[in-house]
Amino acid sequence: MNNLVIKYGFQSIIPNFILPNNKGLNLNQSGHVFNVEEHRLGNSFCKIIGFVVRQTSVTLEPYKVELELDDARNLKYASCQCPAGSGSRCKHIVVVIAYVNSEDGTSKTDEPQQWGKPSKMEQTIYHQEVNVNEEIIKQIFNQTLNQYNDKLWSHHRKIRISASLKAHKIKVSRNTSIDGQTRLAMSLINENTITGQGLSNVLYGSQTEKKAIEIFSTMFNLKVLKCGLVVHKDQPWLCASPDGLIIKNNKINSALEIKCPISCKKKKTYY
Ligand SMILES: [Zn+2]
Repeated sequence: MNNLVIKYGFQSIIPNFILPNNKGLNLNQSGHVFNVEEHRLGNSFCKIIGFVVRQTSVTLEPYKVELELDDARNLKYASCQCPAGSGSRCKHIVVVIAYVNSEDGTSKTDEPQQWGKPSKMEQTIYHQEVNVNEEIIKQIFNQTLNQYNDKLWSHHRKIRISASLKAHKIKVSRNTSIDGQTRLAMSLINENTITGQGLSNVLYGSQTEKKAIEIFSTMFNLKVLKCGLVVHKDQPWLCASPDGLIIKNNKINSALEIKCPISCKKKKTYY
C-alpha cells in the first residue's frame, strides 16, 4: 500500500462537534498553523497532522495536532499536545480543522509566518541598536565619516539594509518562495568579505573617489562634505552611505554618488 502525503488543496473535514462560529479566532490564528500534512494509507486510513504555534510563546515548540478521519472525512479522533488537548476540542484542534476547511493550502503559505517572529534577543538588538532616535542617528553619522575604514560604519551597516548591494539583491530577487526568500535573507546577513577582482575594484574606487570629489567640486564650484552612515529616521532598519553631500547656500542640497569603475582606468577623462 502506498503512503500518500498531501500538503495542499485538502478536502474539508466534517467535525464531530459544532465548530465555534468565531471568525476572529479563525482569522487571528490561521497564521499560526503550519506544516499541515494529510497521510493516507490505502483507501481507508486518513490522518491529518498539523502544528500550531503557542500563542503564549512563539519560541517554545509548537503543539502537534493529529486528526483521524473515516472514508467520508468525518472526524473520528482528534488529539493535541496542549494541556487541554486530550478532550479533543481545544482551540488548536479547531484551528487546524478551520485551516484545512478553508484551503486551498497554497495561499496560506504565502502569508507572513507568525511563527518566524524574532526571538526576545533579536527584539532587544532591534530596539537597542537598530530602532534608534534622531539624536543617535546624528551621532552615528558623525562617528562614521571615514566609511569603509571605520569599524562602527561596518557594524551599523551590517545590522541594517543598506542602499546599494542589499537593496539591489532584494530588487532583482525572483525566487519568491519561502526557501528563496530565506536564502536571500541569509545572504544579506552573512555578507561575504570581498576578495580577488572585487577587492581590486573596491580599492581602485576608494583611491580615485577622493580625487573625483575634488574635481567635481572645482568643476561645478560646489562645496562637498564628507558623509557618514545615514540611517533612515522613520525606518531605522534602512541606511545609506552617499559619497558626499553637496552644499548650496549653506544647506545640504543633494547627495553625491561617485562611480570610478576600474574598466575606465585607461580611458580618457574630461575635466
Ligand atoms: Zn491544543
